[in-house]
Amino acid sequence: MNNMQISTVHGALEWASSFLQKHNCEPKVAEILLLHIMDWSKTDLIIHLRDSIAEDKLADFQQKVEQHTETKIPVQHLTGVEAFYGRMFHVNKHVLIPRPETEELVQQVIEAVDKTNITCVDIGTGSGVIAVTLAKEWENRQIDMLATDLSDDALQVAKRNAAKYGAKVDFYHGSFLEPLIDQGKKVDIIVSNPPYIAYEEAESLSDTVKNFDPELALFADQNGLAAYQQIIHQAGRVLNKQGMIFFEIGHQQAEAVIQLIKQQFPNSEVTIFQDINGKDRMVRAML
Ligand code: GLN
Repeated sequence: MNNMQISTVHGALEWASSFLQKHNCEPKVAEILLLHIMDWSKTDLIIHLRDSIAEDKLADFQQKVEQHTETKIPVQHLTGVEAFYGRMFHVNKHVLIPRPETEELVQQVIEAVDKTNITCVDIGTGSGVIAVTLAKEWENRQIDMLATDLSDDALQVAKRNAAKYGAKVDFYHGSFLEPLIDQGKKVDIIVSNPPYIAYEEAESLSDTVKNFDPELALFADQNGLAAYQQIIHQAGRVLNKQGMIFFEIGHQQAEAVIQLIKQQFPNSEVTIFQDINGKDRMVRAML
């Protein structure tokens, strides 16, 4: 297709969709990129479909479509944002791009917690999606929301997201629960989507994940179980009585994580939940 034909919005989208498909990429990336570049809603797009598209915008669009097909850079790194639980969050190469499975984890937490006075920590907060979402959803309660991360770069992103939504979250730099232990902080609820992929599985991941999501957010030793081990080990020093732990897990890790929790908290009541695809994805422990 020549530049004559792609000079309309509709033409540009058609060119991009078929170009993406030819390179085994998702055609819907075209619309996401175009809406972002034009700063349009979907309705704006429909209204402007037959209009011509400004040259600089078209050039930007083509460049991003080509970059995506060539490098498989995630579209979220090109737009700098991803939606989570109805809000848009800043993301970059320093944080894991939020996944829909994690929205389900947040949903489990919200359903399980009926207290009005809550202290909660999100461990390995990354972009801050869990901490910020819970802080916002619980705005009408008496809530102390804490979040930790080992990566300073990630904390910068999380703080930006908290500021964007005016969410009150106290951020701590450090490994899992260590900063809370150091400061003698106690919490009622621990939530975490820690790194849980075994290093041996790296080869089986898509290029988009393997080459662009931060390693620190993806991989863990001990067959992917090391983060759970450490968090559960530290949890005894941080959790209040009748505390709760919520983890996102790999779909084959349920039994192993139950065992780890039972070793440390023999009297806890542990439940596994499946994600929308029917895979074991969340663990809830009530102490
Ligand atoms: N808690 C963040 C998220 O759920 C980051 C998780 C991670 O880096 N493993 O997106």
